[in-house]
Amino acid sequence: MWVIVHTYVGLAIASLVHRPFWQVAVLVIVSHVLLDLVPHWDYTRTAHALAWGWLDFLGALATLIVLLLTGYPWAIVLMGPISGAPDFDVLFFVIGKERGRKWFPSHWDAFPHGRCGKAAGMTVQLAIMGASLAIVVIAH
Ligand SMILES: [Zn+2]
Repeated sequence: MWVIVHTYVGLAIASLVHRPFWQVAVLVIVSHVLLDLVPHWDYTRTAHALAWGWLDFLGALATLIVLLLTGYPWAIVLMGPISGAPDFDVLFFVIGKERGRKWFPSHWDAFPHGRCGKAAGMTVQLAIMGASLAIVVIAH
């Protein structure tokens, strides 16, 4: 799933779950695995993977900057990048470094990674982002 989707879900979880920082961090990492099971469309095997990757990364980064500038607690905002961080090994795969050496379980070839067509996969991801954003906004 896209980094920005993981970021939004991490922010939503952190907005709802008022537990110690490390417990929330574990939850958002677990959410990464669960989200990668959901059928979605990934850009990693497309001709313009790097361009999609930049769009994905900059969108997530812009969201985090806006939240910080509008006064969101850093402990909540930090859960966005923690949630998306496992996708760094996908980034290294896409740019050709350490080819085939993905370390995060939901990125292993044997993992039942959810996949579907572009239209349906993007719709699913936008719906998850929208629901997550609503939670973030309502929770604060
Ligand atoms: Zn992932």
